Amino acid sequence: MSVLVYTENWDGKFKKLSFELVSYAAGLAKMTGTSVTAVSMGRVEDSELKKLGDFGAAKIVNVNNDQFVALDSQAYASVLADVAVKEGSKVIIIANNNTGKAIAPRISVRLKAGVGSGVSRLPLNLNPFTVYKRTYSGNAFAHLVIKSDVKILTIAQNSFDLVTAPNTAIIENYPASVDASLVKTVVTNVEKQTGKMLLTDADIVVSGGRGMKSSDNWGPLVELADLLGGATACSRPVSDEGWRPHGEHTGQTGKIIAPNLYIAIGISGATQHLAGISSSKFIVAVNTDKDAPIFEAAQYGIIGDALKILPKLVEVVKEFKK
Ligand code: FAD
Repeated sequence: MSVLVYTENWDGKFKKLSFELVSYAAGLAKMTGTSVTAVSMGRVEDSELKKLGDFGAAKIVNVNNDQFVALDSQAYASVLADVAVKEGSKVIIIANNNTGKAIAPRISVRLKAGVGSGVSRLPLNLNPFTVYKRTYSGNAFAHLVIKSDVKILTIAQNSFDLVTAPNTAIIENYPASVDASLVKTVVTNVEKQTGKMLLTDADIVVSGGRGMKSSDNWGPLVELADLLGGATACSRPVSDEGWRPHGEHTGQTGKIIAPNLYIAIGISGATQHLAGISSSKFIVAVNTDKDAPIFEAAQYGIIGDALKILPKLVEVVKEFKK
């Protein structure tokens, strides 16, 4: 019996998210007296797979087949459910991102498993199996009891620290294939964003709202993000106005991120915006209105005009980096 964890790779490389999931699974395996089996789909070299062992995976099931290079939720769910049955796994760990949201419900149907989504801590209790999750756009939390025999948890990004362990992992190749009719997604063309930090991967995000006044004022904000090695983001009205691309909008209807540092500049802090960023470790806000709701979510705040403060922040960071 094991805790099964689905580890995503990007072009054959694992990112921090996958190591967080394995660390979480290892914590849970310790609580339940079991071990961790990590599943990898697509083409990943053995040396990369082995890294999962550094975070507590005892076994790595490698589904290395061209059918699984691109995400196809039906095909992936079918294989993951089969591996879970073969391994006798009672808990399946998946990321609470778009991939997780696509495959968790499908595995749930196949295995009659209850799903706890957006879980951010190890279970509070094993009997009954009770997990903790944020709810109502991060304004409340819930204790969720899952009663089914098999349970699926999707884990909120950045909610669990990496925990290293002695690496004893073994790799097992799993010769899975699915009926070609099940594979509904065919990738015909991939265009990569280059030279830019991806918003969902960034440890530091500098984000602007309507308080930035116009698309012409974005220069120092982008410069600050570059200097900090971070990504840029924005509130929804900013992307609706066409000041910034839609891919940068965070919140309930945009990207959900959890960087270590989120710098909110000229953003009021509406509930719908906070829904996408409230899991950030530190929030710093710059706003002219001392009563803006963003200051309630922020650990640090500067009351003042963004257009005057941003160039000063840029200068300070430049000086610091000299
Ligand atoms: P405003 O609310 O206009 O705030 C601008 C802020 O800038 C104010 O606090 C002001 O004091 C400050 N300011 C003004 N001038 C300056 C200056 N010179 N220097 C510094 N500060 C200054 N919004 C999202 O962001 N993401 C979502 O996903 C999202 N989804 C939504 C879904 C629904 C169903 C609905 C109804 C709304 C959604 N919204 C979303 C919109 C949300 O309700 C807010 O309207 C929006 O977040 C406000 O954006 P803002 O903070 O940039 O603008």
